[in-house]
Amino acid sequence: MPDLRANIERVQTAVADAAARAGRDPASVTLVGVSKTHPAELVAEAVGLGLEHIGENRVQEAAGKVERVRELLGRAPTWHLIGTLQRNKVRQALDLFDMLQAVDSVRLAEAIAKRAEDRRIAVLLEVYLGDDPARPGLRPAELDDIARRITTLPALDVRGLMTVAPFGSSPEQARATFRRLRELRDRLQETLPGARLAELSMGMTDDFELAVEEGATIVRVGRAIFGERG
Ligand SMILES: *Cc1c(COP(=O)(O)O)cnc(C)c1O
Repeated sequence: MPDLRANIERVQTAVADAAARAGRDPASVTLVGVSKTHPAELVAEAVGLGLEHIGENRVQEAAGKVERVRELLGRAPTWHLIGTLQRNKVRQALDLFDMLQAVDSVRLAEAIAKRAEDRRIAVLLEVYLGDDPARPGLRPAELDDIARRITTLPALDVRGLMTVAPFGSSPEQARATFRRLRELRDRLQETLPGARLAELSMGMTDDFELAVEEGATIVRVGRAIFGERG
């Protein structure tokens, strides 16, 4: 079993140190523990140790876990969907998650809006900055147009951008990716003055410190907290 207490403390300290290096307030960075493949019991323990934000990348896998964690703890952490959402799973996702981090099309955004009922759904737009055509995420060239259309949907509270650094990135390449995401956000914010694009979700186990140095407000850390995935 991983030593969750030590792992969470180590990651929190590393986030705080990276924030300090960049002259940022450590409290401006939210640590999301990514619990995919790990059982609800481990997640509940982590939440009990103060990890208040949990990320899962699949609706199906999260379904039982969200309910079980609530049973074990008698309360719920804040749940983030960090993986691609299929339109036929939107209704279920809205029951499970507090924030949808990987919105990458107008059709998906419209499906979310249609099922939101009286809620306003917190979302991030996923952007992909590599050159693999198979990866999900908006491409920079389409971002302005699609973001403009999505931000007209009143049911969606578009809070910023999310990215995963391209597979196999060196630290220098990951840093450049994170800087680019921040620049894209800054530019988008200028073209959409009505939106509040405060969030930048970027950085995982291998690169979260670089991401914090480059302005991440949300880091998504799995292995460094929960251990290697089986
Ligand atoms: C799995 C996953 C993470 C966490 O990755 P680690 O390398 O385990 O920290 C973060 N973001 C997304 C989108 C993921 O799918």
